[in-house]
Amino acid sequence: MARAATSPIQSRLQTVKFEMPRKTFYGQTDIGLRRSNNEDVFVISPELGFCLAADGMGGAAAGELASRIFAETTLEVFATDPSEKEILYRVQKAFSFSNEKILEHVHQNPNHKGMGCTAELLAFCEGGFVLGHVGDSRTYRFRKGQLKQLTQDHTLVQQQIEEGLVSSENMRNHPLRNIILRALGLNRELTLDLLRGKTLPGDLFLLCSDGLTDMIQDDQIQETLSSDIDIHCKVDQLVESAKVAGGDDNITVVLVAIA
Ligand code: CA
Repeated sequence: MARAATSPIQSRLQTVKFEMPRKTFYGQTDIGLRRSNNEDVFVISPELGFCLAADGMGGAAAGELASRIFAETTLEVFATDPSEKEILYRVQKAFSFSNEKILEHVHQNPNHKGMGCTAELLAFCEGGFVLGHVGDSRTYRFRKGQLKQLTQDHTLVQQQIEEGLVSSENMRNHPLRNIILRALGLNRELTLDLLRGKTLPGDLFLLCSDGLTDMIQDDQIQETLSSDIDIHCKVDQLVESAKVAGGDDNITVVLVAIA
């Protein structure tokens, strides 16, 4: 059952919708059908011009906390440094500060060793965007009927695909598919993927956790995004499709429509 948001950080809350001129944001996170808690978090902040999604790891309380640290730190970074020229710098800072905070938390709480999160942060500027990415959550762009994955998964299996050791068809059922090579909280040195691009009217940007993409294929995502329904219906339909397919993990879906 959806309900209205009271905090910008969404984990237990399920859905939130905001509108800003030229962009409509909508997001939903769902515990799925097999997990006892939701370690995913998303934030939609039209006023600060960004959205993010994070997927925690390292056990129930720790994973959820790592995602929240990333969400809270990003809100702080964007709220205190509003100059548009600095948008790339702000995205980098959100990741590096979050990484430091998670490592510091683990240092103070050794029982949380292994705590971390994947992270997608999509920040808009005039006519374009900056995207920061670590881990196996994903960002896609849907433009003129075509879905394009903008991010590469930082997983052992993806690395093996790139090295020609595994075919992409076998990726979904690979026994090592959950091994993540990069995430916030793993190392002091954080290698961040940063992308810049233009936005065009009609573009849709999709941020999602692996609870969506492990359950449904890209062609099903493309079909949903192509359909002639509102973006909140598209988000709901994607989450529902992941649950119908098994709902093995927490499912987070954020969509941004560029008018
Ligand atoms: Ca997950």
